[in-house]
Formats: sequence, C-alpha cells, structure tokens
Amino acid sequence: MDELSPTPASPVHFYDTLSHRIACGVRGFDQRSTKYPRLVTCHTCVALLGERPSLAVAAGSEPAADAAP
Ligand SMILES: [Zn+2]
Repeated sequence: MDELSPTPASPVHFYDTLSHRIACGVRGFDQRSTKYPRLVTCHTCVALLGERPSLAVAAGSEPAADAAP
C-alpha cells in the first residue's frame, strides 16, 4: 500500500497505436506508455479513453498475422 507515497511513480500514458503518439499529447521518449488501457495510470489519458472508447477498441484489436493486407 504505497498509495500515499510523496513521490508517486511516473504515470503510464496511453499510446495511441493509430496516430502513433501518446493520447494526452505529452512528449518525450522517456515517458512511460502502454497500448493496454487497463494499465494506464495517467488521469488525462484515462479520461480520453473514457471519451473515446474507440481508442481502446483499436488497441485491443491488434492486427493478426493472418490479417495482413
Ligand atoms: Zn497521459
């Protein structure tokens, strides 16, 4: 239970696999990000996911090997 830690861990942003950038617009290659919505801890990214469920849907539907064009 480290919820009250004075130095919280860096937030995990949502990586938009469609636009190839972090959803909340933060920049920097040292930012932690994930394409899995359930692992996102950045409040802004979580809010964006809530407003645009399609982002999560896109992330959850990774192109399969047999789905190549
Ligand atoms: Zn974010």
